[in-house]
Amino acid sequence: MQREFHLTYLFIAHDLSVIKYISDRVAVMYLGKLLKLHRKIFLRILHPYAPGPCFCCSGSQSRFKKKRIILKGDVPSPANPPEGCRFHPRCSKAMDICSKKEPLLKEIEKNHFVACHLY
Ligand code: SF4
Repeated sequence: MQREFHLTYLFIAHDLSVIKYISDRVAVMYLGKLLKLHRKIFLRILHPYAPGPCFCCSGSQSRFKKKRIILKGDVPSPANPPEGCRFHPRCSKAMDICSKKEPLLKEIEKNHFVACHLY
């Protein structure tokens, strides 16, 4: 259908093992903010949140290696999100600046955008 009718799909999911098969471009969001935008999320995971809500997948189509990563803490209220990086209360790599200043989305490598003070 995409080829025949020249359509663009917006597919929202939490399981990367599904997204992998149908997406050309992947955006990762947390509490309404874009944290990461990439052609293929599976090539290189740079943002601390990227593997959180789903499975990290590697290997060939027939040999999936799955590793579930459980984030600590509760999801803050979207009505009253944290200052700075919205992910900082749950981030294992949070620094002082993370609770004070919101990171901007930056192109770290070609077609790979990340919003994180680590970069
Ligand atoms: S900006 Fe800080 S808190 Fe947010 S993901 Fe990066 S390291 Fe973690």
